[in-house]
Amino acid sequence: MLDEVTLHRALTWVVALSALPIAAALLFITAPYGRHQREGWGPTWPSRLGWIVMESPAVWLFLLFFWWGEGRAQGGALALLALWLLHYVHRSLVFPFRMRAAGKRMPVAVACMAFVFNGLNAYINARQLSHFGTYPSSWLAEPQFLMGAGLMLFGFAINLHSDTVLLRLRRTDDGSYHVPQGGLFRFVTSPNYLGEIIEWIGWACATAAFPGVAFAVFTAANLVPRALSHHRWYRRTFADYPPSRRVLIPLVW
Ligand code: NDP
Repeated sequence: MLDEVTLHRALTWVVALSALPIAAALLFITAPYGRHQREGWGPTWPSRLGWIVMESPAVWLFLLFFWWGEGRAQGGALALLALWLLHYVHRSLVFPFRMRAAGKRMPVAVACMAFVFNGLNAYINARQLSHFGTYPSSWLAEPQFLMGAGLMLFGFAINLHSDTVLLRLRRTDDGSYHVPQGGLFRFVTSPNYLGEIIEWIGWACATAAFPGVAFAVFTAANLVPRALSHHRWYRRTFADYPPSRRVLIPLVW
């Protein structure tokens, strides 16, 4: 019979190895939500509901798996849990209500795929924290935790600020788009995605574990092609789009 160590490792490899085909596919087929929403992806439902449903397993399933581990009372594990929840309580319960999403819809299929992924990712990362990994209180003084947590908070701040700039652009609920200005938008098209990728690199460092690395790689595989699609869309849509603005990495790409 398959033991849980093998299952956990296998599922972590699934997340890590799926990154490459997913990135390749997303370079040709842009995920159909937000400005790239289009016909042909089956039934749709309100975007806000979609965001809550698809992101919520990263809160409730994560808590369930975390609680199941015998290391759940360790100080380091609890601090990492707090970092995870900071991101995901915001993403699943705050961000959906900050969106100007009246009349916006997304395919149910997109939300279902993200729901499955978030469940799987919650399992591999929560079990790492409270069962397979060892994160005592002394972990909080380790350089990889301090650097990783700092990087994660830095990425979170970039992500939050950039999403706030975007959300403020839509002052009316007519669903229209405008060219974002200020902050890191001076340098790149998708600073919110850049912040998100930095966050999960920070998480990989703070946990010093394979599930964290797998998730960071997967996040980049998901968001790098989408940043490119956004960049092309802005250039097509706005004749005055700043020509020096890069896709994702300031001054580089
Ligand atoms: P976008 O940048 O496409 O959009 C963010 C929000 O701002 C949406 O509500 C969008 O509306 C609105 N918006 C964007 N650009 C404009 C504009 N030019 N004018 C007016 N409104 C605008 O991000 P996503 O929706 O793809 O992602 C939202 C968050 O989720 C991000 O922080 C992202 O990092 C995170 N995320 C993380 C993933 C991961 O793999 N970890 C995967 C996907 C997202 P509308 O929806 O109508 O376009």
